[in-house]
Amino acid sequence: MIRSVMKERMECGLRPATDPLASGALSANRELACRELADASGCCDLWWARRVDGREGLTDLLDDAETRRFHRFGCDADRERFLVGCALAKLVLSRYLGLRPARKVRFVRRCTECGGPHGKPRLQDGELEFSISHSGELIVVAVAKPAVGVDVEEVTGDIPKDLIDMALSEQESAALSHLPSCERLRSFVRSWTQKEAIAKAAGAGMSLDPRAILVDPSDPPRLLEWPHCTAPQDVALFTRVAPKYIVSVAAMGRCETIRSYDGSPLLARRTGEDLV
Ligand SMILES: [Zn+2]
Repeated sequence: MIRSVMKERMECGLRPATDPLASGALSANRELACRELADASGCCDLWWARRVDGREGLTDLLDDAETRRFHRFGCDADRERFLVGCALAKLVLSRYLGLRPARKVRFVRRCTECGGPHGKPRLQDGELEFSISHSGELIVVAVAKPAVGVDVEEVTGDIPKDLIDMALSEQESAALSHLPSCERLRSFVRSWTQKEAIAKAAGAGMSLDPRAILVDPSDPPRLLEWPHCTAPQDVALFTRVAPKYIVSVAAMGRCETIRSYDGSPLLARRTGEDLV
């Protein structure tokens, strides 16, 4: 049995002060090879970018279905976040896989429930697992050997009552209502990102009832119970709280270290080397 607790160890090139969730600043990027991640099993890499990194030239990384989806978004912010998420994932994965140009990286989105084309994106050969999330100005791509899920959320606005009823168990909902009002939003978002990351790691998306995913919210957080064949103790969970954003990462297996990298330079200098 794999017993795993995901602990944060900022290493491999990013100082905490340059973490986008800590300070808004981004570090210098570094090149990674697939071998590095393979050698470092037990690691999950987070690649960060911003909505403003979206540029027209990135659209040629999208396949036909992604291009149609890109044009269907009704608002610019959604369109930009989708483009940056997709492009960043392909640019990052092309480096891990040694597959150039990056548009050779193709995703399949087969839904595990119905077989439709709206499931969690995956690599065709399944050599590496990844997950994409975006909220507000931030986009993040998680890459790991085991199945992984990431969720970042901006801590802003109100929490609609029906969202609480949909996401939290009765017990969690009662605990939330006893918190001082200034702490409620942060606590809810934290819990939401944890449940979402766990569901994404399982590849279950919205088909997994978030009310049935119970997490011990202490630090580090721990999955206590969920309606899935994988034992809760075999799911690694990690949460990082910053003033404006909260991110959670879940992995279906051993994962002890989170490494953060700046993906913005990859998107900016996507010229020669990625086009040939
Ligand atoms: Zn489906």
